[in-house]
Amino acid sequence: MTGHPTWYDEGIQHIWLPYTQMKTATPPLPVKSTDGVRITLADGRELIDGISSWWAAAHGYNHPYILDAVKTQLETMPHVMFGGLVHEQALKLSTRLAAMLPGDLNRCFIAESGSVSVEVAMKMAAQYFINRGEKRTKFVHFRGTYHGDTLGTIAVCDPEEGMHGMFKGMLAENLLTDLPRTPEDAERFAAFLKVNAPDVAAVITEPLVQGAGGMVFHTPETLQWIRMACDAAGVLMIVDEIFTGFYRTGTRFAIDQAGIVPDMVTLSKALSGGVAPLSVCVARDTIFDAFYDDDPMKALMHGPTYMAHALGCAAANASLDLFEREDYEAKAEAIQHQMMAELAPCGFLNNVKSVRVKGAIGVVQLEDASAIEALKPKFVAEGVWIRPFRDIVYLTPPLIIEPADLTKLTGSIYKVLSEA
Ligand SMILES: *Cc1c(COP(=O)(O)O)cnc(C)c1O
Repeated sequence: MTGHPTWYDEGIQHIWLPYTQMKTATPPLPVKSTDGVRITLADGRELIDGISSWWAAAHGYNHPYILDAVKTQLETMPHVMFGGLVHEQALKLSTRLAAMLPGDLNRCFIAESGSVSVEVAMKMAAQYFINRGEKRTKFVHFRGTYHGDTLGTIAVCDPEEGMHGMFKGMLAENLLTDLPRTPEDAERFAAFLKVNAPDVAAVITEPLVQGAGGMVFHTPETLQWIRMACDAAGVLMIVDEIFTGFYRTGTRFAIDQAGIVPDMVTLSKALSGGVAPLSVCVARDTIFDAFYDDDPMKALMHGPTYMAHALGCAAANASLDLFEREDYEAKAEAIQHQMMAELAPCGFLNNVKSVRVKGAIGVVQLEDASAIEALKPKFVAEGVWIRPFRDIVYLTPPLIIEPADLTKLTGSIYKVLSEA
């Protein structure tokens, strides 16, 4: 008996939780409902959300405008197979994303999860060269990066993050290097890419922030250097905007700050406002053209059952409406300023290594992370949902958060860390 509802006591025996040692982990909290920036637990306690459900709920939970769009779509058509059939929500979404993204990023492949969109981008890159009569089997990826949990994507994650050691022999052998952070690094990286170019289909990177790898920032120059090196070596560039897309770093897309056009961009998370699973891999015309042929073997051979899910696409179109109607750049900037001011005092606490903020991402990094797990229940006791990981306590609140609620989040971080 846990004092939890019956469905909890029964079902907890049958569920397998993510990233969780089921034997030792603190049991998860049962949620009854969500609304705005609040999560209500089964026992009636309310938590202010500092994470946005893994960065997806940019407009907060249960936004009436998105809910209405999904309800309308639900009554018309929840889903239909995307083979041989198309529908308005998916095509509208594609037209809109093509208009929003820079350059000739014009072709959208709509899938259901972020990892799958990264897999699709990687397949597009590999087959782009195959269709041109070249076999390139490797990807260049960076230390500290996260691109998903499937076997294809963990092979381009940080080796520790992707647990390459554990899965040795099963993962594709790719080329790991450090993100270029200085002009000297950039030169070294360009030379490295040139030498390896005959084997390399694409370089893959997160733009401006390595999210799941510990919220580590880099500058727009890094992206420009990678783009230049790719151009010089004749290698494609995949930018994974799944975390950063839709104003998390301050601008609509992180690449907007660098002024570059990648060959493929992946989007998910805030795309559908945290309401339904949806992801998109957007490719340039130059990539699409290499598949456009009389030869059926040159087609892209990929098609998830639930791809272009109509409810997900309806949620995404509604989410894009909201992003267009209101000034989200201003919202992200206001959050940035408030977090800078309110998290700064954490920098004077014992055990704090650094405090950093970029857009609507606020990070307090600890010197000694050995007690990080113990912080989790303390945040819940404060009435906030904050999930420290590795050596960081971070905030990625819904972009519509009110200043008083954000103060409650930053204040809880200061309080919990100062008492720890
Ligand atoms: C979350 C994330 C993914 C994986 O998306 P899923 O929907 O969890 O498969 C990939 N790349 C980045 C940068 C992410 O933040």
